Amino acid sequence: MSSFAQQRAAMVERQLKARGIRNDRVLSAMGEVPREQFVPERLLEFAYSDGPLPIGEDQTISQPYVVALMIEAAGVAPGDRVLEVGAGSGYAAAVMARIASRVFAIERHDTLAESARQRLLEGEYRNVTVIIGDGSGGLPDRAPFDAILVSAGGDKVPEPLKWQLAIGGRLVVPVGGTGLQSLLCIRRTDEEEWIEHDLGNVRFVPLIGAHGR
Ligand code: SAM
Repeated sequence: MSSFAQQRAAMVERQLKARGIRNDRVLSAMGEVPREQFVPERLLEFAYSDGPLPIGEDQTISQPYVVALMIEAAGVAPGDRVLEVGAGSGYAAAVMARIASRVFAIERHDTLAESARQRLLEGEYRNVTVIIGDGSGGLPDRAPFDAILVSAGGDKVPEPLKWQLAIGGRLVVPVGGTGLQSLLCIRRTDEEEWIEHDLGNVRFVPLIGAHGR
């Protein structure tokens, strides 16, 4: 078995570049963050497998490609303030922390939030704050955000999240039934104007909360 660094480099080539991820910042960040530090110890050998993995509480760390796709679609860039709803293992937050200036990540399961916080602390991701709670209504006290990623799927776009975008900000959110969802990218173009496009089908764990299921 090759080293984690070799597996990570292969993941970037075969799972990301080969499927059309082009953004250099996203590719570098994905090539730097050690995914093996965000998966349960018993699953270490699958850390760079091409799919989601269980992390406890019936939740998952997302497939690397989906993490990259969402961050690329959200146009996360240096200087950005970013919100992630559904921190899970903290992996996507760590990738974004390598690009953006500030990342807030909300997780409703306190056990997952605590371990994500611990990992991010150990990895010295000083620009990430993990918050425990229902993130389906966003984080109004810390808004506006340049990018919001929702890493769990509800049956509609959580309305408060659209209003917590800065003008020009992007919201990437899976919306649909409990099986397949459409991954939407919604850009706030003006005070009361948003444009939306569909990035294709995805399958996420449910977004549970006041503005979720
Ligand atoms: N991006 C994460 C990672 O890198 O590990 C994966 C997130 S996992 C697919 C989705 C997470 O969303 C789960 O941990 C789940 O508990 C959380 N979640 C679901 N509904 C939520 C809500 N309303 N607020 C906060 N977290 C929520």
